[in-house]
Amino acid sequence: MIPKDENCILCKIAAGTIPCYKLYEDDLLLCFLDVFPIVSGHTLVIPKGHYRSVLHTPAEVLAAVNLRIPKLARAAVAGVQAEACHVLTNCGVEAGQSVDHLHYHILPRFEGDGYKLNWPSGKLDPTHAARLQVSIGQALKGTP
Ligand SMILES: [Zn+2]
Repeated sequence: MIPKDENCILCKIAAGTIPCYKLYEDDLLLCFLDVFPIVSGHTLVIPKGHYRSVLHTPAEVLAAVNLRIPKLARAAVAGVQAEACHVLTNCGVEAGQSVDHLHYHILPRFEGDGYKLNWPSGKLDPTHAARLQVSIGQALKGTP
């Protein structure tokens, strides 16, 4: 049984009770235009099941969704004659997730489109890196 949340806007879009500019649909997912686009061709891909984020989605669902994303991203890029794209998902409020239903953004990119992804890079300290290898490595052993 596919999990649903009756208060979730993306579940309502997946069920067809809220209209969308649909681009693709199959038994697992829906792909449609974001009505608050960052760039032309801004596309959303959602599983029809209600899963909060990548952190809360069964691996087999993620695998199936991700098998379809390359075709959808290529079409979004080609459909607006873009040169490149971002494919990204936010996992949690602190990471910028605004709707509590897993969704991938496909953001076609154009030379000079003016969109800036805020990604201020730091420099990884070797001591901190060693600690992270231990702590994340230990977490991996206990993570399904
Ligand atoms: Zn939902």
